[in-house]
Amino acid sequence: MSLLTVENLTLQFRTDEGLITAVDDISFTLDRGEVMGLVGESGSGKSVTAKALMMLNAGNAIYGPESRITLHLEDGDVDVLACKRPREMRVVRGGAISMIFQEPMASFAPAMTIGSQMVEQLLIHTDLSRAQAKALSVEMLDRVGISDASARFNQYAFELSGGMRQRAMIAMALSTKPRLLIADEPTTALDVTIQAQVIQLMQELVKDFGMGIIFITHDLGVVAQTADKVAVMYLGRMVEKGPVRAVLRGPAHPYTQGLIDALPKLDDLDAPLRPVPGDIPSPLERPSGCVFHTRCARALVDTCRTAVPQWSNAGPDHRVACHLNTGETCA
Ligand code: SF4
Repeated sequence: MSLLTVENLTLQFRTDEGLITAVDDISFTLDRGEVMGLVGESGSGKSVTAKALMMLNAGNAIYGPESRITLHLEDGDVDVLACKRPREMRVVRGGAISMIFQEPMASFAPAMTIGSQMVEQLLIHTDLSRAQAKALSVEMLDRVGISDASARFNQYAFELSGGMRQRAMIAMALSTKPRLLIADEPTTALDVTIQAQVIQLMQELVKDFGMGIIFITHDLGVVAQTADKVAVMYLGRMVEKGPVRAVLRGPAHPYTQGLIDALPKLDDLDAPLRPVPGDIPSPLERPSGCVFHTRCARALVDTCRTAVPQWSNAGPDHRVACHLNTGETCA
């Protein structure tokens, strides 16, 4: 059952240097109970896209006229970009959609206890009494595996370890029972053992709560473990999307192939690392045609420099935006 439809999302920022295109005409859907990995290097537009779903981007953000974000909730569809009043926005932000970030210290107010922040959020987004909100908060802290949850409830964020803070943030994000959870690099700052625990926890919660998750990461290993499907972004454009196994086992876009080739090979520790050559260009100097052509080893003719590649099929539910896949000769 569909939970989210994003159509032709384009987002630009007005700056002193001119208009910067951060998200360029992307479309995707997410079902309930589905996990989508959103991957790409820093600067690919992953986090801006996620924030756009909650209209959290700065005041200089301009949405393209064709952009449309629709949340399909039990009591009807919500046109997210049409939500302007604070009451409407509360239905979306912290209500139907919650977000967790890479660094939980940035999400908790340092001068308030974890518990009081959880209670305040519940009082804003639910009809619970203060006592009920407190009971639910302690229950959620316990649910995410925080021992002695009643005591932790009264502690400040700086008093918790990194892994525990991350769990507390997940507890707070889930306490309002959002339909969609956006997790922005939620495990990047954690050591490998805690990372595995947090991933397992999120997988359990998807099953228990039936929510959809957008998991933003540059770590393809994490995507392989957690996601049902994956979308690859480069310089604000989506370049490949499909079932996670199909995309990771048979990448059809040279950029996706490059990200996979750049991973260290545990079965061949002597193999040299093969990073994607070059750097992601400045959004102020977006390449013409295919935005990846300045780094693509297979882009040798005019087509890639002049024509924007359109979507084509690379397999069942597997789509790619590359001229090579439509039979055009780029090499
Ligand atoms: Fe490379 Fe051309 Fe495909 Fe872009 S369209 S990824 S430049 S081959």
